[in-house]
Amino acid sequence: AAKAAGGMQALAFQTDMRIEVARRFTLTSQIRQLLGNENPDVGRLEICYQPLVDLRSGEVVGAEALVRWLHPEMGLLAPDAFLGLVSSNRLDAELDSAVLRDVLTQMARWRDQGLRVLPISVNLTRDSLDDPRLADQVLAALSSLELPASLLHLEITEHHQLSADTPAERTLQVLDAAGVQIYLDDYGTGYTSLEYLHRFPIRMLKLDRSVVTSLDGGQVQLVAAVNAMAVTLDLEILAEGIETQEQREQLLALGIRYGQGYLFSHPLPVADFAKSVLTTADSAGADRIVPAG
Ligand code: C2E
Ligand code: MG
Ligand code: MG
Ligand code: MG
Repeated sequence: AAKAAGGMQALAFQTDMRIEVARRFTLTSQIRQLLGNENPDVGRLEICYQPLVDLRSGEVVGAEALVRWLHPEMGLLAPDAFLGLVSSNRLDAELDSAVLRDVLTQMARWRDQGLRVLPISVNLTRDSLDDPRLADQVLAALSSLELPASLLHLEITEHHQLSADTPAERTLQVLDAAGVQIYLDDYGTGYTSLEYLHRFPIRMLKLDRSVVTSLDGGQVQLVAAVNAMAVTLDLEILAEGIETQEQREQLLALGIRYGQGYLFSHPLPVADFAKSVLTTADSAGADRIVPAG
């Protein structure tokens, strides 16, 4: 009986595998169609916007664009559910340009509607950075929409570990010189050297959520050390994944100026973001999502 049960398990496993393979196959072909704009039946990309705030006042100083896939059968898919497939099919650059196009068009629309204009940061993958045409494409899009380059911030992750004298480095230099700020995302999870931070035109470190979480156990040394280094190198710091008022106060006490996290706001669908964040142009106080602690 044990042997038969084992056989049944193996069969069930094979069936699961087959379903999984079929699911991946379907999703892959749907992603291709989605990014190629070939077929409206595969749903569409939805960009959510999560506010970035000044930790002292709670004032919104910008937002990060975060992609989702509104899938016809599966509903709203988070990036974790499909970015892996995008990558393994070498579609990263297509995804990034679709997101960039959407975000820049949206920013121009907000401006045309007379809404408050905030800088928006967009995540970039390694493949996009390695494409020597990226800088020109980004700058051309900004200029055709008459958007100042200073309104666009680009996030590259610490895991990319770019090399010196590569197309990626030149891309960053060109964008930085034009006024597009580069942020280093997921900071504190890799091994970025001082030399790296000095060499590449990085304006801001985004402290990974795991670093913020480490504060809960009273581990303040890491944040304190990163902050001291950032001051020396003249870098701004933003802490990601702030969920509690305690974390916010600890970060403020350690000298961190900016933050992002569910305490202030979840990533918001575009209409909600425009309504709750961008329509408060007049008084500084009205921008506050969470009152100053
Ligand atoms: P990321 O760039 O580090 O983005 C921050 C992630 O943390 C987002 O997850 C955000 O929703 C989540 N987050 C924000 N505040 C909190 C909080 O207080 N608590 C917790 N637990 N999480 C919080 P999301 O939207 O699922 O995105 C995951 C990752 O997918 C992003 O990490 C980024 O690496 C990637 N990604 C998202 N959108 C894009 C995109 O348009 N292009 C590219 N290339 N990558 C993207
Ligand atoms: Mg990011
Ligand atoms: Mg991040
Ligand atoms: Mg992250």
